Amino acid sequence: MARLLSGLADVPVTKLHGVGEKKAKALAEMGIERVLDLLTHYPRRYVDRTQQAEIRELRIGDEAMVMATVKKVGSRRTRNRRTIVEVDVFDGSGYLRCTFFNQPWRARQLAAGTEAVFFGKVDMYKGRRQMSSPVVDLVGDRTGRIVPMYPQSEKGLHTWELASLVEEALERAGDFAEPLPAPVLRDLDLMDRTRAFRRIHCPETMADAYGARKRLAFDELLRLQLALVMRKRAVEREAKGIRHVMDGELVARFHDKLPFALTDAQRRANEEIAADLAGPHPMHRLLQGDVGSGKTVVCVAALLTAVQGGHQGALMAPTEVLAEQHHMGVRALLADLTVPDPATLLGERPLRVDLLTNRTTASERTKLHAGLRAGDVDLVIGTHALLTEDVEFHRLGVVVIDEQHRFGVEQRAALRGKGSDPDVLVMTATPIPRTAAMLVYGDLDLTVLDELPPGRTPVRTVWSRGPLEEAEAWERVRAEVAGGRQAYVVCPLVEDSERIQARSATEELERLRAGILADLRLGLLHGQMPSGDKERAMTAFRAGDVDVLVATTVIEVGVDVPNATVMVIEDAERFGIAQLHQLRGRVGRGAAESWCFLFGGLGPGAEERLAAMVRTTDGFELAEVDLELRGEGAILGTRQKGQSDLKLASLRRDKDLVRQARDVAVSVVGDDPALEQHPVLADEIRTMVDDEEAEFLFKS
Ligand code: ADP
Ligand code: MG
Repeated sequence: MARLLSGLADVPVTKLHGVGEKKAKALAEMGIERVLDLLTHYPRRYVDRTQQAEIRELRIGDEAMVMATVKKVGSRRTRNRRTIVEVDVFDGSGYLRCTFFNQPWRARQLAAGTEAVFFGKVDMYKGRRQMSSPVVDLVGDRTGRIVPMYPQSEKGLHTWELASLVEEALERAGDFAEPLPAPVLRDLDLMDRTRAFRRIHCPETMADAYGARKRLAFDELLRLQLALVMRKRAVEREAKGIRHVMDGELVARFHDKLPFALTDAQRRANEEIAADLAGPHPMHRLLQGDVGSGKTVVCVAALLTAVQGGHQGALMAPTEVLAEQHHMGVRALLADLTVPDPATLLGERPLRVDLLTNRTTASERTKLHAGLRAGDVDLVIGTHALLTEDVEFHRLGVVVIDEQHRFGVEQRAALRGKGSDPDVLVMTATPIPRTAAMLVYGDLDLTVLDELPPGRTPVRTVWSRGPLEEAEAWERVRAEVAGGRQAYVVCPLVEDSERIQARSATEELERLRAGILADLRLGLLHGQMPSGDKERAMTAFRAGDVDVLVATTVIEVGVDVPNATVMVIEDAERFGIAQLHQLRGRVGRGAAESWCFLFGGLGPGAEERLAAMVRTTDGFELAEVDLELRGEGAILGTRQKGQSDLKLASLRRDKDLVRQARDVAVSVVGDDPALEQHPVLADEIRTMVDDEEAEFLFKS
């Protein structure tokens, strides 16, 4: 009978003949306890012996791989007490020296007589060819053209010991159950499961290894997509969502009062959201849009839809500062709006929007909690403080989560749990790549604002690489102020401490005031200021009483002054692309030409980041660059259930596979929501998720 992965997940590695007590312990330390763990402990890379170079032929500057035997090992200490291990290796054609800095254990690893593969760049030292800190793989006495190299820990098992255990496991496992129908394999050019497992561990050619990797990476992505698509369907099946009141007056009055007409994209988004809100199933939707595309008015309309039907709305932001910004912004948008209240003389009262963060004082908090329970608070904006147990709602109807990739599925579920199936809208501050959205938000419907409001001129971005160019930037600031415009100066992000950032902003303000901007009216804004001061600083800037606002990243979101036309970002290399893009989005909000100056630029990856910022103002494009540069770990943020299943698949390398897996998952679940026709897949999903999740996904 063909093997199910769940079966292999049940068999402990100690069942293998090659695993005794000692090896079992070493394996456990590497996280390998079950046979499935062992089989999915994939080679880190392969050594292709046909690609080996002869030492004699190496030239300075070559990147090369040589297989050689250690002849001599020496270890010495430098004057500043660093250890240098020097290893002389020989491959029959010549000698090469390999030098390792600060890795004293190499002397033990590479004892004389050891055969190993050395991979590195050839350079010249004191007239001899050498490699500095090459990658070393101990080969053992293995034969074969292509040798898999397994991730190993220093104390753990050698790569060849792992290889022989894997071989035993593969042999005894026999054939694997094939979860995919033959036509899918054919269409996507995937090898079958059994072959893939064998070839990834014991390839005959490199093409074999790549094909195997592709198949198994696809399987990882498919499992994840299946779980997400099933989750989406399960949420939709819950028929106890709220049917919101769509023809109330509040949303209409809100739209009438806006000083602009909605863009077509906003109108479309409103319609998609309205259809969800009117329907019997709880909404579960992601709203994506570039900086400045006007997500706020879209999400506020959703919140007001709840309120006009007598429900409450909640908006959750990832940090206190962002929550405060949203609170300020939303309150300004909703000033003068009223809701019916038969208890008052006029039959109505002002709409109430409150803020809840860790900074909210105990007495305010008590009042707010009571207001939420009684239903007197219509909208609440806050941080994850909203998730605490003593926050109870009278009738929570719509939840908006402003994510910045910081919350996970669990938190979304926690907030949903505060009401009886409220509608949920998730927003990201800047776009995230399509493939990343599929992985992180694959259980949500997607709405994209693919249009900016009219009348914006793209911001001109300049990378100021030295004092002269910085002086030009300050000239531009002065010229714009002379023309009646305003500017922002964003100060270096020092670690992740708001306190230190606040100090550096204050110092920068003093420096500018004493020097280059002495005759201008300067203001200060940072996260540590009491909210009253913050509001005053913003009001003064908005009113034009301040020419230049020196600020920390608190201005990242929600600050909206169309008359500001210059943004100077100091030490720009310390910011990520998404953050730079978000900051730049504070200018270019009116019809006037705007500038963004990026100072600095030394640091890991800074060159690419800043060049990308200069090249494009398209947030979707920048999101792709960000993914290229930082990899999925940074983009995905909080690890989510199932992501640990991604051992081979990579967002960066496997964009096509992500999309293909998505398509297959949608079509499989579309015809067969409980995977009754696909028992092998069903079994794999159950193995991957916990029992509670499985019950949710498979109940029909
Ligand atoms: P983001 O999507 O970055 O959150 P905001 O919601 O902050 O964007 O909106 C950016 C700016 O554009 C705000 O000043 C907002 O008032 C304005 N805005 C939003 N929609 C429109 C529109 N349809 N026409 C003109 N301005 C708009
Ligand atoms: Mg916004």
